[in-house]
Amino acid sequence: MDESVEAFRSQARAWLAAHVPSEPLPSLETAEGFAAHRAWEAELHEGRWSVVNWPERYGGRGVDLPHWLAFEEEYWAAGAPGRVSQNGVSLLAPTLFDHGTEEQRARLLPSMAGGRTVWAQAWSEPEAGSDLASLRSRAVRTDGGWLLHGQKAWSSRAAFADRAFGVFRSDPAADRPHRGLTYLMFGLREPGVTVRPVARLDGKPAFAELFLDGVFVPDEDVIGAPGDGWRIAMSATGNERGLMLRSPGRFLASAGRLVRLWREAGCDPAVRDRVADAVVGARAYQLFTELAAGGGAMGAESSLTKVFWSEYDIALHETALELLGAVAEFADTDWAEGYTFALAGPVYAGTNEIQRDIIAERLLGLPKGRR
Ligand SMILES: Cc1cc2nc3c(=O)[nH]c(=O)nc-3n(C[C@H](O)[C@H](O)[C@H](O)COP(=O)(O)OP(=O)(O)OC[C@H]3O[C@@H](n4cnc5c(N)ncnc54)[C@H](O)[C@@H]3O)c2cc1C
Repeated sequence: MDESVEAFRSQARAWLAAHVPSEPLPSLETAEGFAAHRAWEAELHEGRWSVVNWPERYGGRGVDLPHWLAFEEEYWAAGAPGRVSQNGVSLLAPTLFDHGTEEQRARLLPSMAGGRTVWAQAWSEPEAGSDLASLRSRAVRTDGGWLLHGQKAWSSRAAFADRAFGVFRSDPAADRPHRGLTYLMFGLREPGVTVRPVARLDGKPAFAELFLDGVFVPDEDVIGAPGDGWRIAMSATGNERGLMLRSPGRFLASAGRLVRLWREAGCDPAVRDRVADAVVGARAYQLFTELAAGGGAMGAESSLTKVFWSEYDIALHETALELLGAVAEFADTDWAEGYTFALAGPVYAGTNEIQRDIIAERLLGLPKGRR
């Protein structure tokens, strides 16, 4: 046992015990819940727990992966709120660390760490989801920057977020679709931006599409070189599919909640095997990530974990709803919201069909199939 990890774990546990709200916050997919979660991010930041693996100068503690995994286990075991800053912290920040400038990191990371700026991901478009390279939104050169035109779809929590990051076609004459793309950041309240919520199954209004009509982006908000957007975007996808989006701590905590629910419901033997499967799955995922990610970032292995956690999440929630009874799916509870969200797991962060292609081609060395 690594003593420094265990000491760190105890420190985190003590802080969380003193600070985690005693009542669950309202859903972060609503305006009220979004504001409450933003305030929670500020409190986490004040305790320096919002971005523990970042360098200290940006508000982190500079810890390595085993420490971060221990923190995540404590975080979710304590029943702490969902992370409204997730897109920024787990997708944009690693991109800025790898491809941004020091000026961008110093300007953008502290406000992200404190929840003052919440970021949305603006990658997908109506005709460009799995086939992202076919995107059509444009960035057109102008004095001192770029003008954005086009439409982005399926942007999580964009209805309430402050800024967004995405990929745009800056050179329509490039010889291949993934060439001539540029990675930019823009404000969601800038002139020319229209944010339109998209109806979700549960009616909560945070999910949105974005219409961009001549939105100005200064040169300082381009990440990397113009034309290099595809390479930069692809370096972030491992984070989205792998550990940063769904750490094992979340599933260990969910499996624990499921076991408690099963006990409260009278230990129904008919569901016992599936409750046990949930515990086995959470432990297996924990052990796998410790082994696979022990040295740092994951490559194509993140596709394995993506398929696993998305299918696992649905099975776990289905078992919970069965224990809760016939109308549980329609109640406004964490389990019901978790279930509708879990249903989208095989779709977002790259669909599971695409992940299986990546596994077949890059991990198993099989010939290209469907594409
Ligand atoms: C809840 C949710 C949140 C999301 N949040 C965001 C966000 O914050 N920001 C953002 O940019 N996007 C977001 N997305 C969009 C998401 O990334 C896309 O929905 C996803 O990439 C799939 O793209 P698509 O919807 O265009 O489906 P399509 O690409 O049209 O796919 C339709 C079906 O065809 C299959 N398919 C397509 N191509 C192939 C192929 N070559 N081989 C085999 N099967 C194939 C797919 O697997 C899928 O089953 C979100 C989506 C959801 C559901």
